[in-house]
Amino acid sequence: MNNDIFCIVPFLNFSSTNDGHPRLCCQASTWKDIDIKNLNIKDLWHSKKYNDIRNKFINGEWPDECNICKSRESKGIDSRRQDQLKIWNHLDFNKLINEPKIHYYDLRLGNTCNLKCIMCNPTNSSLWATESHLIEHLGSHNQHEGFTWADGKLLDSIMNNLQDVEVMYFSGGEPLLNKKHIGILDKLIESNLAHKISLEYDTNGTYINKIWMEKWKYFKNILIHLSIDGGKKVNEYVRYPVSYNKIINVIELLNNQPTIRTELQIALGAHNFHDLQSIIDLTKKYNLNVDNQYNISIVEFPKWMTIHNMTNTDKKYCINKYQKCSSRRVKSLLKTLKFTNNTPTQLQNYFKKLDTIRGLDHTNIFYWLYS
Ligand code: SF4
Repeated sequence: MNNDIFCIVPFLNFSSTNDGHPRLCCQASTWKDIDIKNLNIKDLWHSKKYNDIRNKFINGEWPDECNICKSRESKGIDSRRQDQLKIWNHLDFNKLINEPKIHYYDLRLGNTCNLKCIMCNPTNSSLWATESHLIEHLGSHNQHEGFTWADGKLLDSIMNNLQDVEVMYFSGGEPLLNKKHIGILDKLIESNLAHKISLEYDTNGTYINKIWMEKWKYFKNILIHLSIDGGKKVNEYVRYPVSYNKIINVIELLNNQPTIRTELQIALGAHNFHDLQSIIDLTKKYNLNVDNQYNISIVEFPKWMTIHNMTNTDKKYCINKYQKCSSRRVKSLLKTLKFTNNTPTQLQNYFKKLDTIRGLDHTNIFYWLYS
């Protein structure tokens, strides 16, 4: 076995997309030719498709599905593959290679969401479906049947195959809005498995309340990736129609729970790099972790929302302001900024459109777009 390429993930991880397709993990490409809704998890897990990938890793070959890890490693950047080898090293890899078992479920149970964040789309938020036809760059994102995959037989078969699970990871849409997610937690509690399972969430936080604490107390521990994209004004425009004060109340509630760890999750783009200080201040005030590189995701779509499309004045401001901050991730992003003649015209036009549709005024919130 070539340990420079071997990945343990296909031997222990099952991941679904929110529109009902499988993938090796959240960084692997999706098998769009497979509709998981009415499959049986055991058949899928032991299918030729999975076994072929496992054999590739055993033989020291990169599967096409894993180009993100391959490319990161070729540039000397840490990959998920390398992280996962360390995270799961308490397991017997030889045993897993002979008999792959699902220890980690990464389930995206649909696109139901109560927010329509400006960098999101109908594939990830059902609420966007009410407005997306008015926004040109969202034209290709449509609602389709795949989002109901969790109503099918696959989820029933997963519910009967939870005995080896150590981590359940839920993302969405907004996972706390999804009734199937509650059913899974109840099943784990009833089966007396909850105490050995860690739960992880990507959540917008709007549905977190004391009722969840009653369910979560049965589990080993909980990791919350709480989405926030700026101070009050910026966050409320970006993560429309969220209430910033409610999110602060949620952070305070979570901070009082001994088995819950909260990390802020930031989607960074041309619109909000300037306001990063508001989030750094929050992390200090509430003692939250923001230095793990996976806490910052980069807005990549549409292209004119990426950090590279900031004005030169704004790039200079961010470099001066944040080059001494403690986040390695932020520092490495600053190094990628190049001074070009880009103008944020498309972003400004998008905001003008959103202002008209939503009755807002972005100009005094994102003044740095006009600097
Ligand atoms: S190599 Fe990377 S992308 Fe492929 S399964 Fe492993 S962690 Fe996921």
